Amino acid sequence: KPIVLSGCQPSGQLTLGNYMGALKQWVSMQDDHDCLYMLVDLHAITVRQDPKQLFEACLDGLALYLACGIDPEKSTLFVQSHVPQHAQLSWVLNCYTQMGELNRMTQFKDKSAKNENNINVGLYGYPVLMAADILMYQADKVPVGDDQKQHLELTRDIANRMNNLYGDILRVPEPHIPEFGARIMSLQEPEKKMSKSDVNPNNFIGLLEDPKKITKKIKRAVTDSDEKANIYFNPQEKPGVSNLLTLLSLSTGKSIDELVPAYEDKMYGHLKGDVAEAVVGLLEPIQQRYADIRTNRDYLNDVMRNGAEKASARAEETLKKVYEAVGFIPKP
Ligand code: ATP
Ligand code: MG
Repeated sequence: KPIVLSGCQPSGQLTLGNYMGALKQWVSMQDDHDCLYMLVDLHAITVRQDPKQLFEACLDGLALYLACGIDPEKSTLFVQSHVPQHAQLSWVLNCYTQMGELNRMTQFKDKSAKNENNINVGLYGYPVLMAADILMYQADKVPVGDDQKQHLELTRDIANRMNNLYGDILRVPEPHIPEFGARIMSLQEPEKKMSKSDVNPNNFIGLLEDPKKITKKIKRAVTDSDEKANIYFNPQEKPGVSNLLTLLSLSTGKSIDELVPAYEDKMYGHLKGDVAEAVVGLLEPIQQRYADIRTNRDYLNDVMRNGAEKASARAEETLKKVYEAVGFIPKP
């Protein structure tokens, strides 16, 4: 089976963007792929986190993965910091990555503009740690949202570089970006992507939010001042409306072409009402499963323990290969 690796940061509550761009794909790949899914807490501290919140967000995230349908019997589910090889491989890859390459990363530019008082070395090296995560498991496919495309390209470059120097030691991965839903936009600023760490909570929908709050946020979403309130799909001309149509389509399983004609004589308010209903309908069963799983700490511990054990054993194989390739003496 092809190997799949992906993760989300416990940098806040997972959003509808994370679900559509990542988790939904993860769930669907479990049967015919060998999947590894992690919570990337090492990545999360590249932005300052409150330790208590990070701790809880990690357990919340794990329970949400499970509630969304990640099955620990089929997939390896683990917490990044439980597998020390990620940091170890990342160090080696740091020494094979040029500053010029990292200077071009748009996520670093965006995040350092937003966190001016904490532009730390970890934030700069984020893409290298991500490369280590992926190359560690010799992944074939990496299901991610559109925003991670550039990091994936860097990962491929690093892998090719290592292979050219030392022979075929790392598999070169392919990004797996969904055709639709790979970039869910912010509700209030639909020209930028929805992000869980956004300072304005009205910009995102958390997967665990109260249905009433979700409805309110969707009803307040920015559309545009088109007086005729034309409802059609065109992300350039109508970013807000197109984002709502995208959410409606992904939540109902109906295509945009199927949906749009029904809004010919309708107002934005109608569309918003339908989107809210569809999103709440999608999230309610997830929230119900989550409530049961999140309170079962013994079960979560078992999942984490088993996942870390399986992942570590696999990670160690690649780490050994890389250490040997660069000339480190094996511990006698
Ligand atoms: P942060 O703001 O802390 O970076 P985030 O919402 O961007 O949080 P990440 O943990 O960085 O979430 O990303 C997890 C996965 O979700 C990645 O595969 C990423 O591509 C995907 N993703 C993030 N935002 C979106 C979005 N708006 N639409 C689709 N996919 C997304
Ligand atoms: Mg992100």
